[in-house]
Amino acid sequence: KVDYRRKPEWLKIKLPRGFKTSQVIGLLNEKHLHTICSSGMCPNRAECWGNGTATFMIGGNICTRNCRFCNVTHGKPLPIDRKEIDDIVSSIKELNLRHVVITSVDRDDLPDLGAHHWADMIRSLKENCPGITMEVLIPDFQGRLDLVDLVIAEHPDVISHNVETVRRLTPEVRTFATYDTSLKVIGHIAKSGIRSKSGIMLGLGETREEILETMDDLLSVGCEVMTIGQYLQPAKSNYPLQEYVHPSVFAEYGDIGKRKGFRHIESSPMVRSSYHAEKHVK
Ligand code: SF4
Ligand code: SF4
Repeated sequence: KVDYRRKPEWLKIKLPRGFKTSQVIGLLNEKHLHTICSSGMCPNRAECWGNGTATFMIGGNICTRNCRFCNVTHGKPLPIDRKEIDDIVSSIKELNLRHVVITSVDRDDLPDLGAHHWADMIRSLKENCPGITMEVLIPDFQGRLDLVDLVIAEHPDVISHNVETVRRLTPEVRTFATYDTSLKVIGHIAKSGIRSKSGIMLGLGETREEILETMDDLLSVGCEVMTIGQYLQPAKSNYPLQEYVHPSVFAEYGDIGKRKGFRHIESSPMVRSSYHAEKHVK
């Protein structure tokens, strides 16, 4: 076990600043919007917000699940608020974004698990922001493919769903979600013809063999894009960090993934599933 607070040099975070960044922060505060950039304390805020990119979170900001790596608030969520969609759309217009990533908390409390809200979000973006490209990072919808189909029917450019870690560690690291359910969801997206994407974090105690096996599992269900980034332990109570993986090791996994056949693979310590997401549309 390593001290998660003692970050290596390559993970030292630049504070977000600059005009575009202040514009993003201002808008987020004004409209009370939730981004995974803030709630996940993402290390790329300076770069992404500086470029006018953000990952918006829908379904409120309280998750019904409690994955051990995650920094999102857990508990009983508030009812779905349609205004959230309108606020995100108007912010995207105001910030003049060309590519957006949308994600959500899990809404296991709702009969449709939030799927109709997802579909409304995508439809509204398409109607109001013509020409915009988008990636939607969806929950597993408890493996209910009829609900995944509601998202597919709206034709976002990329649909991602993260396996988050290797098979062996999944029960310890994620709550409720299973590795096989996630693979099933990713396989279903891939079959629809929409670009499918998934990702894992390193530093949770996984082995090299297990990482390569995860790549093979993802490829076997047709996954085209993979992200690999460093797990950053948000607080003492979260899943204990096992290792800060060296950038050269990430680079090697990137090379292996490319050779194995991913269309795109992003592998470096700072990578998050939404990092450089605009590249994954093509
Ligand atoms: Fe936000 Fe994703 Fe960029 Fe992180 S990588 S700042 S979550 S858009
Ligand atoms: Fe976090 Fe897990 Fe909820 Fe996703 S499902 S927001 S990873 S607690």
